[in-house]
Amino acid sequence: MSLSDSCIFCRIAAGEIPSKKVYEDEDMLAFHDIHPAAPIHFLIIPKKHLVNLYDADIKEQALLGKMLGMAGQLAREQGSVDGFRVVINNGRVGRQEVYHLHIHIMGGPEPLGSRGPAPLKE
Ligand code: 5GP
Ligand code: ZN
Repeated sequence: MSLSDSCIFCRIAAGEIPSKKVYEDEDMLAFHDIHPAAPIHFLIIPKKHLVNLYDADIKEQALLGKMLGMAGQLAREQGSVDGFRVVINNGRVGRQEVYHLHIHIMGGPEPLGSRGPAPLKE
């Protein structure tokens, strides 16, 4: 079984599973979270399978910089014009659920909760 069979975000990146796309280019994809934790909630993923930030060493600085560098523009285009939150969950302690690196972008018209909505599942 290849990664793109087993990893749901690889399958989304390959177009095998539909997603509500926000942005796509040769390196990255942004799409709306299926269970939004804020009025605006989308994910930015690399097309390349990286597990999380433990898996993203300095060689990936251009890719990581590009994903983060697009965040403001994409958030604004989605309607988060006055601020947004960025969350990256890593591993068990970080309560990562999907083991393909992703950046949560959460926002909306009004301020978010003070400690959330980081996607805590309880
Ligand atoms: P994590 O807890 O790993 O940081 O977050 C994974 C996120 O991916 C969750 O917010 C979850 O709602 C979202 N998610 C999981 N499966 C899918 C899917 O098939 N499609 C989309 N659009 N989002 C997904
Ligand atoms: Zn993957």
